Amino acid sequence: MEDDLKKEVEKKVPNAGGFMIPGTSLLNKTGSWRTFKPIVTDKCTGCGICATYCPENAIEIKEVDGKRRAVIDYDYCKGCLICMNVCPFKAIKKVIE
Ligand code: SF4
Ligand code: SF4
Repeated sequence: MEDDLKKEVEKKVPNAGGFMIPGTSLLNKTGSWRTFKPIVTDKCTGCGICATYCPENAIEIKEVDGKRRAVIDYDYCKGCLICMNVCPFKAIKKVIE
């Protein structure tokens, strides 16, 4: 799919190789940028505030062991720690990768 998209863009915009292709954020896994890794702890209430602020849309609120909580997709989490800073319950801690 990524190759098809690149070919299509190159056809329409020759020499566009140096530019980011718009609308492909799901193809650009940002997890490798991370220095700090946010970890959701048991204090999480599943309120969803962190998910609203995450710039990578990497947090989903899911039911885990019968309790709603934030689940982070580490393929896309870039480690900015906005989630940790906005959590009113101090439920996210950081570790160094
Ligand atoms: S803001 Fe905090 S308590 Fe609310 S879902 Fe996120 S981690 Fe859990
Ligand atoms: S560290 Fe940043 S990118 Fe990762 S889940 Fe938190 S807000 Fe999203």
